[in-house]
Formats: sequence, C-alpha cells, structure tokens
Amino acid sequence: MSASPSLVKNYIGGQWVAARTGQTLQVCNPATTEALARVPLSTAADIDDAVRAARDAFPAWRATPPLERARYFFRLKELLEVHFEDLARTLTAENGKTLPESRGSVHRAIECVEVATGIPSLMMGRVLEDVARGIDCEAIRQPIGVFACIAPFNFPFMVPLWFLPFAVACGNTFIVKPSEQVPLSQQELFALIHEVGFPPGVVNLVNGAKEAAERILEHPDIQGVSFVGSSAVARHVYAECGKHGKRVQALGGAKNLIIIMPDAQLERSVENIAESVFGCAGERCLAGAVLVPVGEIYESFREKFVRRAAAIKIGNGLEPGVEMGPVISGKHRDRVLAYIEKGIEEGAELILDGRNPPVREKGYFVGPTIFDKVTRNMVIAQEEIFGPVACILPVGTLDEALDLIHEHELGNAASIFTTSGHAARRFRYEAEPSMMGINIGVAAPMSFFSFGGAKGSFFGDLKAHGWESIDFFTDRKVVISRWF
Ligand code: NAD
Repeated sequence: MSASPSLVKNYIGGQWVAARTGQTLQVCNPATTEALARVPLSTAADIDDAVRAARDAFPAWRATPPLERARYFFRLKELLEVHFEDLARTLTAENGKTLPESRGSVHRAIECVEVATGIPSLMMGRVLEDVARGIDCEAIRQPIGVFACIAPFNFPFMVPLWFLPFAVACGNTFIVKPSEQVPLSQQELFALIHEVGFPPGVVNLVNGAKEAAERILEHPDIQGVSFVGSSAVARHVYAECGKHGKRVQALGGAKNLIIIMPDAQLERSVENIAESVFGCAGERCLAGAVLVPVGEIYESFREKFVRRAAAIKIGNGLEPGVEMGPVISGKHRDRVLAYIEKGIEEGAELILDGRNPPVREKGYFVGPTIFDKVTRNMVIAQEEIFGPVACILPVGTLDEALDLIHEHELGNAASIFTTSGHAARRFRYEAEPSMMGINIGVAAPMSFFSFGGAKGSFFGDLKAHGWESIDFFTDRKVVISRWF
C-alpha cells in the first residue's frame, strides 16, 4: 500500500514524487530501534511545488458541489475501514503506542472524516428577508484557498485528519507536513487518498522538518495554517502567520492537573487516572501530569495509584497484553530521564522509579514513574515532561487545587474526580483549561466538538474540528440585495 518501503516520498499534484533534496533522516521503530525508512528533509522548493499544485486545483475544487465533495470522503472512510488494522500496525511501528491505542486513534481519525461528510449542512449560510423594506441579506460561507497543517509526533495519523477533511470538504485545497519522526502512516493515508481519486492538487503531502515548516508559514499563497506541537513552536507559528497575514490555529503543549476530591470513587478513579497518566507513555497533550489529592484521600489514593502503576506491563506495543510502549526516541528518553533526575535533585520523593524498566526489547523505554511530595514551584510540577511521569502534589482544599490551575501558564486540559455536584460545578465554572473532564481522565472532545486548550496551550481564536473548524476554513460573506 505505501509508496516506497525505504525512502518516504512526497505526494504533490496527484503524484508520488521524490523530494528535491538528498538530505534524509532515519525513521526507527522506537520499541526495537529497527530502521523502518528514511524521510527526506524537503526544502522550500518542495513546498512551493505543493502550493502551486494546490493553488491550481482550487478553482475547480471550490466549484465542485459540496455533496460531490462529500462523496470523496465517503469513499475515503470506506477505504480507511478496509485498511484499519494495517494502519494501526504502522502507527504502532512508527510511534510505539500500543496496538489498542493505535486502533483508538485511527477510529478518532475516521470520525473526523465521517463528520466532514456532513458538509452540505455544515456549510449552509443564513438569509433574512426585508432587513430594510425590499432589501434582503444573506450570509454565505465560501472556501478561501490553500491551507496547510504541521503535525506533531505523538498522533501521526490522527492529527492531520483533525483538519484535512474539514478544510477540503469546505472546498479548500490542502498540504500536510507530518512530523519528520513519524511519516509512515501518512504515506498509507495518502495511498488511500490517491485510490479515492481526489482531483490532482486537492490534497498534498510534503515531508520534512523546520525548513519546510518555515516556508509554509511565510508562503504568500497559503491562506491559513493549522499547527499542533510544543508551545514554544506554536507561539512562533502564531506570530509568523500573523506577520504574513494568515489565518492560524496553533495548538501547543500541556501540563494537565487532575484533582481527586475526598469523596471520589477511588477504585474506578485510580484506574482512569493511571490510564490518563501512562497511556501512550504519557506522550499525549491530554495526559494527566500533576495529581492533586485533596484532604484525607491523599494516603489511600497514593497507595492504590502506585500499586496500579507498578503493575503496568511495558513492552512492544504489537504484543498482546502490553499496556505501555516506549517513548518516541533515544533523545526524548534522555530528556524524560533528565526530568526524573531533576525531580530527585529538587527534593521530591521518587516512590516509583521507571528508569530501568524490565523490558526484553532494546527500545526507548521508560517505566511508570511517580514522584510524591511535589511542590508547586518545582520544575517537574511546572514543565511539560511528555513521558510516563506523575507528580503527586497534595493540598488541603479545592480552593488550593484551583489555585494551582489558575497559576499555571498552560491550560490545555484538567479533570476532577468527585461525587459532589457542587465541587464539579465549581471546577467547571472556575478552572480555565478548555478541555475539562469530570470523572474522566482524558477529556478528548470528539470530532463534532472543538478541540484545543487555553492560555499558553493555544494560540488563535478558532479551534480544531467541530463547528469552529468550519468557521476557520471559510469566509463568511454577507450579501445585501435590492431589485429595482
Ligand atoms: P514540536 O513542536 O517539536 O514539532 C511539531 C511540528 O512542528 C513538527 O512537524 C516539526 O517539524 C515542526 N516544526 C519544528 N520547528 C518548527 C518551526 N520553527 N516552525 C514551524 N514548525 C516547526 O512538537 P512534537 O515534539 O512533535 O510534539 C509534541 C508536542 O505537541 C507536545 O508539546 C504536546 O503537548 C503537543 N501536542 C499538543 C496537542 C494539542 O492538542 N494541544 C496535541 C498533540 C500534541
């Protein structure tokens, strides 16, 4: 199904093409360190080619009736279902997440395609007759031109599909730039896109890293950019797009708090919280990172949480029964290990040490790690670690727990575990993050709602998928008419 097993290709103007560069990076399976492929570091010239193809395809694509555009996505959905298992396996091989986790994220991606097939209704405008005598007013949504997305390593298959189906179903043309660390599942997606037979240039793929991404931000013929990645880069993307007059939605990093109230249902909460922290090896923007037990639940929560975490089976995500795979690379593992050292140095108590996990494979594994007695100013309580490391930071009251959320510069997600409607309502009303879980540890909005955080976790106005994405990908034109 993929274009080439060894050298990853770009897909421009309906054709698989080699990048205009000899510079490549190796792509490895993080569970085994086995080399899977090489990815080209495409240049500005490759992006220019893709933009030209997308720009040329735009007039005919925007004139294609919305229902016809939707039919391409019905066909894509069918093919995604036929190839579901292959896609999930490729995702596990390139990223390391377990097969059930990969299946979950391919499902979520398919849901985006499904929702985008409703485009004839989603794109409908509004009309009011007689805004003044004999004068009518209509608001219509029009596609704008070429859009692009720049994706992170942690959800290589799903994140581009947060944007592509909505942008393209609205009548725009599109360019995907995957993370250079995980280009393979996008090769398979574009093989299916080719099979669907989208008109050449409507959807394009350019592999690469910073150079390709920077060209996307400045290219005068790209109208808007959807970015997902770390906050430092998201902030830069937002500023650059502003400078170049583009629409932008830039989703950044996270440090999510989970509050455990004294009245929480402990058994079920602990299971869900462990899944939140250690699922996808903690490489998830919705992962719980700072666990905040309130009052007398602290001791019993800690004991049950450590017991559950210590029992997590680590290994190659393709093996049945494995609950946690490796982190993405040796470099990233070293970064996570450096944070563990930092926590020890800062005086937090390491009550579960994942530095030498018992794993047969020689991949980039870090075991579940838990720090207790973490205080609010410690680096490990403040910075995104993006690995399987939990910080327990006990407090006395809900007010103190909410203060921790208010103080933090990031605001992607937060959760509370409680049986009190009053506590849950206060949490929902007062805490700033925009993705909130009540007795849910990973508060991931489905594709018909919007996805994105607040404060330093999101830069822009309109978030990913759901109705906001229809606003992002269309211009609302108002026409006022009178007939003499
Ligand atoms: P990253 O910021 O290192 O890279 C993301 C993308 O940006 C990659 O495609 C990379 O090639 C590109 N890039 C690198 N330099 C660039 C530049 N100067 N200009 C434009 N693009 C550039 O992030 P990552 O390590 O791949 O992903 C992990 C991060 O993503 C974490 O911080 C995580 O929280 C975040 N994330 C956020 C969400 C969300 O919904 N908020 C979802 C998934 C991941």
